[in-house]
Amino acid sequence: MKRVAIFNCHHAGETCTGSGCFKAFNQRDAFFARYQEEPAELVSFARCNGCGHDWENDESLAKKIDRLKDIADVVHFGACTVKKGTECQFITRLGTKLEGMGLEVVRGTHAVH
Ligand code: SF4
Repeated sequence: MKRVAIFNCHHAGETCTGSGCFKAFNQRDAFFARYQEEPAELVSFARCNGCGHDWENDESLAKKIDRLKDIADVVHFGACTVKKGTECQFITRLGTKLEGMGLEVVRGTHAVH
């Protein structure tokens, strides 16, 4: 069973219901099509703690990130972590950190319309 976490942008949480991510996961669509042939469960839907927050200056965020390695096998970064075609720099650094923790990182969740 592949344990899947989704990690999103804090700003998106102001208007986003998460339905795009959940629909894509439930239908094994877009970036979740890779789980069509293997069992997968969604174990986390987390958001960053806002611009300027980092695991070095935000203990809560550090704990949240650390917890991912115990609960998930793979972390998908939400479509909201890319703005105008450019990935948020924090997310880029987080991807490197998560991979260093032994987690698989996938950049994307649902298709962006
Ligand atoms: S640091 Fe990046 S992912 Fe987090 S709120 Fe800011 S733009 Fe969004």
